[in-house]
This record gives sequence, structure tokens and C-alpha cells, in this order.
Amino acid sequence: MHIVFASANKNKIQEISALIPSTYILVSLEDIGITEDIPETGLTIKDNSEIKARYVAEILIKKNLPWAVIADDSGLEVEALNGEPGVYSARYAGIQKNDTANNKKLLDELAKYTNRKAIFVTTITLILNNQIFFFNGEINGTIALQPKGIKGFGYDPLFIPQGYQSTFAELEKDVKNKISHRAIALKKVIQYLNKI
Ligand code: IMP
Repeated sequence: MHIVFASANKNKIQEISALIPSTYILVSLEDIGITEDIPETGLTIKDNSEIKARYVAEILIKKNLPWAVIADDSGLEVEALNGEPGVYSARYAGIQKNDTANNKKLLDELAKYTNRKAIFVTTITLILNNQIFFFNGEINGTIALQPKGIKGFGYDPLFIPQGYQSTFAELEKDVKNKISHRAIALKKVIQYLNKI
């Protein structure tokens, strides 16, 4: 089965590729000629995940390609900030979607709180044979006092998963890929696909 992954984010593509069994053929947006940014206009993570999947599914229908689509939208929900940045995680410090600026803003906003608990959440939307399915993944953790580590992307240098002393950006990629929000959601997708 061909599965199009509706993301241009190289880090996400790498993580998803490492988890998809070789019985599935992972197709990139580039492979099907989508080079534009897919708009993320939803008010929730689930909405944005669905918007991205539907955008690609419509193009596949036009191209007469009966392939599955998966789309991932993720966000970091920080308890002391009432769940922010949440759905606005990518644009927290502005529309330029700058990871360093986002991390700095998060540290500044959190400076006056002792509660540094956070949850990374993902919804993966699957569209297959004109049917739509949603799979969630989440992981609890805390926000570090300063960025640490150079692996990963986004908020990885600040997110310390529960039960670990290191940030996602300090952990080996295969460790993150066993426990992350994205890995949890994707395992559910694969379990579902393996059953049908
Ligand atoms: P989106 O899902 O691409 O919209 O990502 C939302 C924001 O969360 C962006 O700033 C991403 O860089 C960040 N993000 C998404 N997934 C991860 C992750 O696994 N680790 C760290 N940051 C992430």
C-alpha cells in the first residue's frame, strides 16, 4: 500500500519513515508535486491534522491515485500556561515559525512559574478509501530551564519526557522514536492498517 505523508517537515518525515514497516511505501508531498505550504487554519490540533490530510486526499483523487494519506499535527501544552502554546506551537513567537524564538518565548513565559509540566500531543489523520480516522498520541514531561541537546527539532531541546533526565534533543533519535507522541499515534495507525 502507498501512504502519502502530508508534511514537508524533514524531521517528521525522518521519524515517520523509521516507524513505517517496509511493507508500506511512504510517498512524500514532493513525490506527488505538492510544493506549497498547506494552510493550517484550524482552531485545534485535530482540525489542522484533518485539514492537511483532506488537502492531499483531494489532490490524489484528481490524480486518480487510490493511495492512503496520513497527516500529523502536533503541539506542546504547558500546564502553567493554560495549555499554551498548543495549536499555536509553530507560530508561538510569530508567523516566521522560528524554533529558537519559540523556545525563548516559552522560557520567558514560564520563568515566573515553578510548575513546568507539559504534554506533547499529536493527532494523526488517516484517509483511506474515502474514510477518515483519527489517532492520538501524547507524552507527559517537563520543560527544562534552558535548551539542551542538538538532536531533534522544534521544542525538543526543552522537553524532558517523564522518567528521563534528558531532553528529546539529548536523547538518541531511536529513543525519542520509541516513546514520543508521534510514535504512539503512528503505532495506532499501523495497528489499524495491519488489521484491515
Ligand atoms: P506542527 O505539527 O508541524 O504544526 O508543529 C507544531 C510545532 O510543534 C512546531 O513548532 C514544531 O516544530 C513543534 N513540534 C512538532 N512536533 C515536535 C516534536 O516531535 N518535537 C519538538 N517539537 C515539535
